[in-house]
Amino acid sequence: MTDASHASGLPFPGSPVVPETFDGSKEIQFQCRKGIACWNACCSNIDISLTPYDILRLKRRFGMGSGEFLKKYTVPYEMEQGGIAGVKLRPVENGTACQFMAPEGCTVYEDRPTACRYYPVALLSLRRQDEYTDRNSYALVKEEHCLGHNEPRRITIEGYRNEQGLAEYDDLARGWRQLILKKKSSGPSIGKPSKRSLELFFMACYDQDRFASFVASEGFGSLYDIPGEEMRAILGNDTELMQFGFRFLKQVLFGENSIAVKQGAAEMRQHKLREKMAGAEREAAEKLAAERDDMYESHEDER
Ligand code: SF4
Ligand code: SF4
Repeated sequence: MTDASHASGLPFPGSPVVPETFDGSKEIQFQCRKGIACWNACCSNIDISLTPYDILRLKRRFGMGSGEFLKKYTVPYEMEQGGIAGVKLRPVENGTACQFMAPEGCTVYEDRPTACRYYPVALLSLRRQDEYTDRNSYALVKEEHCLGHNEPRRITIEGYRNEQGLAEYDDLARGWRQLILKKKSSGPSIGKPSKRSLELFFMACYDQDRFASFVASEGFGSLYDIPGEEMRAILGNDTELMQFGFRFLKQVLFGENSIAVKQGAAEMRQHKLREKMAGAEREAAEKLAAERDDMYESHEDER
């Protein structure tokens, strides 16, 4: 695609059919260009999931905080039942069109989301049980309204990815995709994630400014041992912060430790927890004793 960028979201919503998959060397016939009869058709009815890097690029473009951006331009959804949260572009009020669509095309073209760049190719991340890293395969989405498939241009999927600037987008979303794949492949034995872990996931992946405040907080600093220079780099650069967020989530959700915990901090937490529990137990015991005393007093009165 040269001028426009177009999107649909999930490649095969609700479809039980397993798509034919390809690697990057597959040649496709496709071109999207201004003046094509279906211009903007794909942006008029959207279902576009956003990666954390998509959010970062767009909020940066608008000079907005992540909270404001999420509220105005996105809707949350559950990627799987009881599972982790995803975020989609919010269409125009009472409609299905993208808020960024204009007659001349996409108004955020340089920062358009990953799904818009990929269309009509769909990225399918696969991960075999015995592989740590994900490997990519692709499918082709052919929708009736899209006439780009009739254009005479042929290009490999790899060439198309380069043309659409996807190397950077995929590179910076890798940590997030790995988290999702890990969650999906961890199966039911891991159990339902706690509310706290789901909140941490949402904050670190999507609500990046809130995550920055969390990382800068005293509580975080008292638990994690991050050298000053590294901390300054993380808090001074939103891409670094996002990548750190993925590391942090791998540590707290899957026990893949890469962030040093302060000597004694874990013990201190345990100790504080024990103290808290002991306090609660003490309180409960005192309450019980007081109730018992009351009861005995009333018995005495009865005599
Ligand atoms: S962000 Fe741009 S390319 Fe993507 S759906 Fe909206 S208008 Fe279309
Ligand atoms: S429907 Fe296809 S060819 Fe038409 S504007 Fe959208 S991506 Fe381009």
